[in-house]
Amino acid sequence: MNRRSLMSILVFVSVTLCMFSCSAIKEGIASSRNPKGFVSYNANIQIESKNDEQFAGEIQKIYPKLIDSIENKLNSKFKSTPVVFICSTNESFCKCTGAKFPGPRAKVTAQGIFISPRLHGSIDWFDIFYHELVHSIMFQKLGSHSYYTIPIWFHEGLATFVSNGGGSGNITDSIAINEILKGNHFYPHASFIRSYLSKPKLAPWIEYRQYMLFVKFLNNNSKPEFDKLIQSILEKKHFSKSITDAYGKNIHTLWSLFLENLKAL
Ligand SMILES: [Zn+2]
Repeated sequence: MNRRSLMSILVFVSVTLCMFSCSAIKEGIASSRNPKGFVSYNANIQIESKNDEQFAGEIQKIYPKLIDSIENKLNSKFKSTPVVFICSTNESFCKCTGAKFPGPRAKVTAQGIFISPRLHGSIDWFDIFYHELVHSIMFQKLGSHSYYTIPIWFHEGLATFVSNGGGSGNITDSIAINEILKGNHFYPHASFIRSYLSKPKLAPWIEYRQYMLFVKFLNNNSKPEFDKLIQSILEKKHFSKSITDAYGKNIHTLWSLFLENLKAL
C-alpha cells in the first residue's frame, strides 16, 4: 500500500469516527436537557399542541397493553412508565432528541419516547411505537453507557422481534432471507470498524428484518437460553460473555448455525 492510499484510509476512518461521535455527542447533550414547551395530557403523555390531543388519546388506549406485552416477552419490568412526548414540529423533535433534521419518526432518549409529527398518521405508527418501547425498557435498565455497548443489530433485532416486525415496513421474511442467501447481510460478529467498512448496501427495512430473523432464531432455537441471555444483558454483563454463558457457543458459531438453518429451508 502506498503512502497516498494509507492517508486516504486514515482520513476516511477519522471522518467516519468523527461523524459517529459528533452525532452521538449532539444526541447526548439534547437528551440530557429537560424538554420545554410541553403540557401534560395525562401522567404519561406530554403534548406540545392541543392539535395532538386525539393522537395522545390513541396512544393512551394501547399504552398499558404494550407495556404488559413487552414485560411478559422480556420477563422484566420497566423501572417506570416511560413518558411519551408528542412533538408538534420536526424542528422541536430534532431539538429534543439531537437528531439530524427531519429525524426518524420516533426516538428514545433518557427523558422518554419522543414522537415526531411524521409518525402521526403513518399506517405503521402502532408498530413503530411498540418497537420504540422495547428500546425504552433496555435504555431504562442499562443506562446510556451500557446501552451503547450492545451491538446495534441486537438492539434493533430485539425491538423488531418483540414488536412483531415493527420497524421493518413491508419487508417480508422471504425478501430478507433471499438477500442473506445471496451474501447481502450484516455481520453480527464484526467489530464496529469492520462492520461499518464492510456494511452491505441494504435498505434499512431489509437490514432490520435480517436483525430480527437472527434474534428470532436465537429465541426459537432455545427459549430458556434466550431468557438467560436477556437477563445477563440486563445485569450489564459483557455482550459476548452473555452470549457464550447462555448458549455455550460464540456469536460466530451461532451465526453459522443460523445460515445452515436458512439454507435448509
Ligand atoms: Zn429501533
